[in-house]
Amino acid sequence: MSKLAPYAAHDEQSRGRQHPEPAPAYRSEYQRDRDRIVHSTAFRRLVYKTQVFVNHEGDLYRTRLTHSLEVAQIARTVARALKLNEVLSEAICLAHDLGHTPFGHAGQDALNECMTDFGGFEHNLQSLRVVDELEEHYAEFDGLNLTFECREGILKHCSYSNALKLGSLGERFINRRQPGLEAQLANFADEIAYNNHDVEDGIRAGLITVEELKSVPLFDQYHSAVRAKYPNLAGRRLVYEILRRVINHLVSDLIDSSAERLRAAGVASIAEVRSQPAALIGFSPGTRELNQGLKSFLRTNLYKHYKVQRMTSKARRVVRELFESFFADPSLMPGRAAGGREAPNGPVGRARAVADYIAGMTDRYAILEHARLFDPSEST
Ligand code: MG
Repeated sequence: MSKLAPYAAHDEQSRGRQHPEPAPAYRSEYQRDRDRIVHSTAFRRLVYKTQVFVNHEGDLYRTRLTHSLEVAQIARTVARALKLNEVLSEAICLAHDLGHTPFGHAGQDALNECMTDFGGFEHNLQSLRVVDELEEHYAEFDGLNLTFECREGILKHCSYSNALKLGSLGERFINRRQPGLEAQLANFADEIAYNNHDVEDGIRAGLITVEELKSVPLFDQYHSAVRAKYPNLAGRRLVYEILRRVINHLVSDLIDSSAERLRAAGVASIAEVRSQPAALIGFSPGTRELNQGLKSFLRTNLYKHYKVQRMTSKARRVVRELFESFFADPSLMPGRAAGGREAPNGPVGRARAVADYIAGMTDRYAILEHARLFDPSEST
């Protein structure tokens, strides 16, 4: 481990697990975190959950599983280049979307609205709930009993009121401190991955075109470069040759500008990283602006495309109707979800049990459950 930078997460400096366990014999603590995540039930469900496109729209679109793998791959490159803990950043990335509802952000927004009077619903907080409480694998504890550093990375955002309930993990949101560098870079890896794969998936779906994307400076720059080198290239290969260059630009800039900031800040430990006034991992100002251009293009042209909006509206209805039915009558939920580990405690506990059940559903399971509840011709 001597090749890690002093400001990286080191096993021996870990703030540990909630339930103490003997150190693993052949793995590092963070390898054990990563392995537990890969073996979890919630991880397997990611294959049938989506971000922009509903899972049954086609086999070639990203699912949350392939998204998480792409995020982890980008994060590992950045971590290794900066001499950060590559395994910890991989673990954080593989777990970052475990708490996502079916149907991406539409599902999460709908569930949050349903939960307004019961403490709300945040997908980040739900990812933490999955690894801290909901996974049922081990005899001695609920959840996966991950290290503090991994849990800190999974909890990317958190409201002030929720932070107050989270003990030491919530402190940084209250005191405005930073998480470790492996957590900081996971956010950027997430963003680089989804901006680029949404371009590819959006083109594949026919919702956006290469011509339209030429209005995005970051895309246009590499479109010209690829065209100059391969004048006859078209279709899928053209798109991919452009996107690999865009990803390379963003990743290289992230590494270089973060290295520069780490040098300038002169941090010598993870404790010093945490007490910095701002995050140390980040793009240069020029690349931040280029990346912003790509994001706003996607917002206007893809996420607000009428076909995506129609899907979004259907998804919201499915989630809302599932919630209303189960909340009104928890006996409609399968025994495990209704009873759970602990009996739901009043309306707040009941609402949370319903939210956990719905959040755990894959896209297709949510559609099937909705049909079972509302379509009299479906078997129950
Ligand atoms: Mg993500």
